[in-house]
Amino acid sequence: QRLGYFTAVLEPDAQSPAGLVSHHHIQTGYDDPAGLAQLAHLCQAITTEFENVPAQALQTLAQTRPVAPGAAVVGIAQNRIEEKAHFAACAAVSGVTCAPYAVIETPAQLQAVQDNRADLLPGILKTARMGYDGKGQVRVKTAEELAAAWAELGSAACVLEKMLPLTAECSVLVARGWDGQVVSFAPQRNVHVDGILAVTHAYKGNLPPALATSARDAAVSIAQHLSYVGVLCVEFFVVKDGSAHGSLVVNEMAPRPHNSGHYTLDACDASQFDLQVHAMAGLPLPQPRQHSPAIMLNLLGEVWFDANGQPQEPDWHSVLSLPGTHLHLYGKVQARAGRKMGHLTITGPDVASVKAVARRAAGLLHLPGQDAI
Ligand code: ATP
Ligand code: MG
Ligand code: MG
Repeated sequence: QRLGYFTAVLEPDAQSPAGLVSHHHIQTGYDDPAGLAQLAHLCQAITTEFENVPAQALQTLAQTRPVAPGAAVVGIAQNRIEEKAHFAACAAVSGVTCAPYAVIETPAQLQAVQDNRADLLPGILKTARMGYDGKGQVRVKTAEELAAAWAELGSAACVLEKMLPLTAECSVLVARGWDGQVVSFAPQRNVHVDGILAVTHAYKGNLPPALATSARDAAVSIAQHLSYVGVLCVEFFVVKDGSAHGSLVVNEMAPRPHNSGHYTLDACDASQFDLQVHAMAGLPLPQPRQHSPAIMLNLLGEVWFDANGQPQEPDWHSVLSLPGTHLHLYGKVQARAGRKMGHLTITGPDVASVKAVARRAAGLLHLPGQDAI
């Protein structure tokens, strides 16, 4: 809308922030044929902000309109089993593999993992579908715990992933056009607390340069291998391996603009959302330029409750008196623990001052991950 476009949103939730602010809200299920027909009638190009929209719905829309990213790649990203198979298929070119893993879909596959499987245990059992923010994941140390965890997850299709010793995590945003043109942002370093992104560091020196270059190259080759169109975020682990900086392992990908790229709204001359619009509309993709170092702090529902669990209005007055703070609230009607309600980006003239302000703001709001700033 800021770029001058008419927007329509298909989303079943009456209180969805996107539905509330867009020009047109088609309030129906993602696979409702009438809703999809109306969306295709209203729009010249279509994208998804939510990776669990049924791939079939995107397929239907693609019969009459350009849809980016396409149903096939969204389908891969929706399923960790297919996603890992894709990463393995392009490992020779991307130069990165994923963590050792086993597919757990049947009792026989579960039985095959015994306590002596040091290549898989201790590990994390993750549902193949629908997990986010660490939901649908259970950490297990033994075969017995694994069996209990699989039952807890409803014996759904899962992957068991070896728990790796991480020294850092990072992600890369890539945008690719219909013509194959690719641009990317420099990798950002991410700090997760309890499986949820807490802090993103986006500035020169956030990662060892060689590692940053490898991550960026790997993300671009993963996007190219998928013939991806639109903005793709690829998440990586940096794993302790005895070398000075550790080695890169690919974790997962998100077929959309990503939380770890929200800093681009305030710190770059084109944001990840600008590039998504450019890609879907077939416009050129300018190489984005970051003009300020930045740190992004996620604001979860906890911020709206005091130490006794009573609702409170956060101290925005103090936070916004700090220089270079950019507050983004998403308009979600109800704050809940662990729910992403907004984020605060801090920009400044240099990394030291950005860190100093980020520490002050995180302290004022009692945010997690403060020791990592
Ligand atoms: P997202 O909200 O990013 O989609 P998700 O629920 O899909 O999250 P993952 O990215 O798989 O979850 O894992 C969440 C976090 O848990 C990771 O960022 C990392 O901190 C930790 N983690 C996941 N897998 C491993 C692993 N194999 N070894 C060590 N830590 C891990
Ligand atoms: Mg995920
Ligand atoms: Mg993740």
